[in-house]
Amino acid sequence: MTLDRFGRNINYLRISLTDKCNLRCVYCMPEDITFRPRQELLQDDEILRLVRIFAELGFVKFRLTGGEPTVRANFVDLVRQMSNTPGVETMAMTTNGLLLDKLAEPLAEAGLQRVNISIDTLDAQKFKKLTRWGEVDEVLDGIRMAEKAGLGVKLNAVVVRGYNDGEDVVDLARLTLYQPWQVRFIEMMPFGDVADFQQAGIVTEEDLRGTISAALGDLSLVNNGQLDGEARLYKLAGAQGTLGFISSVTQPFCASCTRARLTADGRLRLCLLREQEVNLMKPLRDGANDEALKEIIVDAIWWKPWGHKLDDDVVPLNRVMSEIGG
Ligand code: SAM
Ligand code: SF4
Repeated sequence: MTLDRFGRNINYLRISLTDKCNLRCVYCMPEDITFRPRQELLQDDEILRLVRIFAELGFVKFRLTGGEPTVRANFVDLVRQMSNTPGVETMAMTTNGLLLDKLAEPLAEAGLQRVNISIDTLDAQKFKKLTRWGEVDEVLDGIRMAEKAGLGVKLNAVVVRGYNDGEDVVDLARLTLYQPWQVRFIEMMPFGDVADFQQAGIVTEEDLRGTISAALGDLSLVNNGQLDGEARLYKLAGAQGTLGFISSVTQPFCASCTRARLTADGRLRLCLLREQEVNLMKPLRDGANDEALKEIIVDAIWWKPWGHKLDDDVVPLNRVMSEIGG
């Protein structure tokens, strides 16, 4: 068990497999972003070694993210090897879904259990504007293929004022009336070069719930408000699925946070919204043994921060979202 100084048991690692992506969502990265050279990123053997070490330290849940994890070379094989690591109980992925039509089945066969698929609107034109060139139909195909492959599916939408904060939110919420899905709305968070845009365009959970209930009726709280992961769940009357709200900006869930993040360039990031990181790549490449790496990780986790400082205008500037892995 790896505890931090607040007594939180940190047992969930989100791994950014690459900073690269086949989209350029406006809330995630600038259009002209420069990606890191390959040698600066963790190699397959380095990732597998770290997954084994984290599992030996008591981490049980692993989520692959990015950038877009599915664009990484040798991805299915990497998932297979990670899933087969002793101690790994849950292997999940967050993806834009574009490559799932071909990858969903091999990934399920390789041991992937769940996917969170990002889809911010069902409107083709607005989807293109938000992602800069994406085709929403390809994501819908990806969702269908993920379900067919037996993967657990949740949908994620980041809401941006002026882009998808009106009928788009209502259309996404309406899906839960007919599908047993969890559709989750994420408050946009500020990072790096894109922070001004993000802070100007944030739509809060309170506003979102207002928009949805004005169009589709009252929302009832599920499980007395107990969080499902990071999401607070609600239900529309008669709905098959649920609505989740991930409100890291206005209602942070630090008390129940169990996660740490491994960036694509091998830094252990202790909190998404704080710049504090510990370099694992350097000792790894300098020949540190497992015990030495475990000591660094255990110490880093102990100092995991509590709470963001956005109210004091402290915005994490050292990276954009795609480098950290959302
Ligand atoms: N490419 C994959 C995807 O889009 O699902 C995985 C990486 S992406 C960085 C992970 C999640 O972070 C996605 O659900 C995305 O919508 C979300 N995200 C990206 N930028 C964000 C921001 N500024 N605030 C909140 N969520 C953000
Ligand atoms: Fe790519 Fe995901 Fe970022 Fe969109 S949110 S640019 S799909 S990494």
